[in-house]
Amino acid sequence: MSAPVLVINSGSSSIKYQLVDGDTPEASTSGLIERIGQSESILTHRHAGEEHERREHLADHAAGLEAVVAAFEEHGTPLGGTGLIAVAHRVVHGGERFVQPVVVDDEVERAVEDLSDLAPLHNPANLEGIRVARKLFPRLPQVAVFDTAFHATIPERAHLYAVPTAWREEHGVRRYGFHGTSHAYVSRKAAELLGRSPKAVNVIVAHLGNGASVTAVERGRSIDTSMGLTPLEGLVMGTRSGDIDPAIVFHMHRRTGASFDDLDAALNKESGMLALAGAIDMRAVERAARGGDRAAQTALEIYCYRIRKYIGSYIAALGGADAIAFTAGIGENSAEVRAGALGSLVALGVHLDEAANAAGGPVISTPDSPITVMVIPTNEEGEIARQTANLLRS
Ligand code: AMP
Repeated sequence: MSAPVLVINSGSSSIKYQLVDGDTPEASTSGLIERIGQSESILTHRHAGEEHERREHLADHAAGLEAVVAAFEEHGTPLGGTGLIAVAHRVVHGGERFVQPVVVDDEVERAVEDLSDLAPLHNPANLEGIRVARKLFPRLPQVAVFDTAFHATIPERAHLYAVPTAWREEHGVRRYGFHGTSHAYVSRKAAELLGRSPKAVNVIVAHLGNGASVTAVERGRSIDTSMGLTPLEGLVMGTRSGDIDPAIVFHMHRRTGASFDDLDAALNKESGMLALAGAIDMRAVERAARGGDRAAQTALEIYCYRIRKYIGSYIAALGGADAIAFTAGIGENSAEVRAGALGSLVALGVHLDEAANAAGGPVISTPDSPITVMVIPTNEEGEIARQTANLLRS
């Protein structure tokens, strides 16, 4: 590895990690700790095609990261011997300030903390990972890479909401967008697949995982995206409603007396496919739909229809697209969702090749389709490592 970077994605009770070469960007080792703080935590470490599982109590993130260092020592090369150039951290919300990756110091740490009210579920957990890694690797640069950064180029017409001035100017209310590293990576790969420079093409990326968003990328720059101030806006997701009339919140508050925290939880954790079909996992929804379950069939229709509306509107926003790229768990694996999402877009220049779609691509449109449709596996850790290596060299 010429530029090894340890990429960390720290959640409230989990740490995902990968050792990635920032130049290629390929991972040699990866792993996951789940259930941090519970009586039995699980560490799964993957190296050289083998998976090693260890179950023990890991009280907090500091204990978790020490267990990761021990796993590297036990299997393959200890981290100290890899020539590590940095530890990179995925941070969900960078607000208006962090539009590029940044080397973390005390002041950056405070700024990320200040942004926690915009991403209360994510930023505090990301910050915890940064804090323990700074203590454990005091001599290595710690780099924060922000999910929102790629969307900093979205113009006012798409990022401003028509809400009172004070909300915008004093409270940071605007569209930020998320999944930025994925949209950046996949749109660049789509241009590569077309054999053209990213600066010469318009690409629509549909990142369809548990969380899901669509982005319009004009000549390499994000110009609109479906998630907003928070990841709640836009597509129907595993447990999030996506777009709704905001007055539904007031209506339900007045009718039921539910608190705003309850309503927040209802829209983020109890809605989406879970509410419509009774299952979060798209494989289960598809199985139920094939078995004749009416609710699952309707849920799939709603899911695909919402994607279709966004893709259609982004073709208009871009004044025409060269490619549409599907990525993440559902985008990469569900031929049914891809076909459902593109169904009636023939008039807009999308000609799906059914056999290629069933085979999974990478190109799933017919050779004469004006818009090329692709399936591109995302690589968020690879993109984080690449951006980190580039920052440290600049
Ligand atoms: P991600 O957030 O990108 O890891 O995506 C996770 C989601 O991808 C899961 O919740 C599943 O719904 C979905 N998924 C994974 N594999 C398949 C598959 N073969 N068919 C349909 N959906 C899938």
